[in-house]
Amino acid sequence: MPAALLPADDHVHSEFSWDTGPHASMRDACARAVELGVPAVAFTEHVDFTRWSPGDVPLVHDQRPRDPGWYQPVDVQAYLESIEACRDEFRGLTVRAGIETGEPHLFAGSVERVLAQGPFERVLGSLHSVVRHDELVGVGRVLRAEHPHEVVREYFGELLEMVRGSAVFEVLAHCDFPRRYWPDKRNLYRENDFEDEYRAVFAALAASDRVLEVNTASPLASVRLVRWWRESGGRRVSFGSDAHVPWNVGQHFAQARDVVEAAGFRAGRDPGDFFRV
Ligand SMILES: [Zn+2]
Ligand SMILES: [Zn+2]
Repeated sequence: MPAALLPADDHVHSEFSWDTGPHASMRDACARAVELGVPAVAFTEHVDFTRWSPGDVPLVHDQRPRDPGWYQPVDVQAYLESIEACRDEFRGLTVRAGIETGEPHLFAGSVERVLAQGPFERVLGSLHSVVRHDELVGVGRVLRAEHPHEVVREYFGELLEMVRGSAVFEVLAHCDFPRRYWPDKRNLYRENDFEDEYRAVFAALAASDRVLEVNTASPLASVRLVRWWRESGGRRVSFGSDAHVPWNVGQHFAQARDVVEAAGFRAGRDPGDFFRV
């Protein structure tokens, strides 16, 4: 057993997410969490939609939301059976069911129908796309083709709409997702360039008493950034490896914990819970 427990990993993908490969395995991800001393894992499979359904807010009526590409729905029943099997096998590990819902402010009806199919304890909200020609397009692609600072500002504007326009998610995942794809090697991504945008999103998230994720698949947030969250009224922090393969569960968590603690947050009494002020 490691000396200090790592935080819970609230953002893991398994074979039930459409974008994972042959190595993805819920079972192996649990084994890795136990090996590392991660006390809890949530399998937050991708829930992204390629059709509009009743209750959604279509960008344009009678037009698809996005190129269908490789997107696939989650097989919820098989997923929940696998969660149960992992709970049986890994008794000392808290195994949570969850989803990562993409653009939930646009797909309110579609998301509700997925959530109605089972008990999902961790619901992450994510913005992966911006709108081009009346369709959702991955922001990484847009970033490479256009002026990156302007695209990131647009992204934060849409993220604010998402936080204000959807109450279905509790945890805001990778709040600065585009930085993963930042294309300019001479002018690096700087959090300071977007302080106002971060603070606007954080204030809206904190006003509804929700949770900010520190995502360790993205370049790690600075202490200053996590402080902006606390100064905006944020009370809770979640850690997410965003692992798509078992060996990335809990990646960079010791370092991320140090950052979050330096910003004034601490582990709760239950080591599997969020960090709190
Ligand atoms: Zn994501
Ligand atoms: Zn993810």
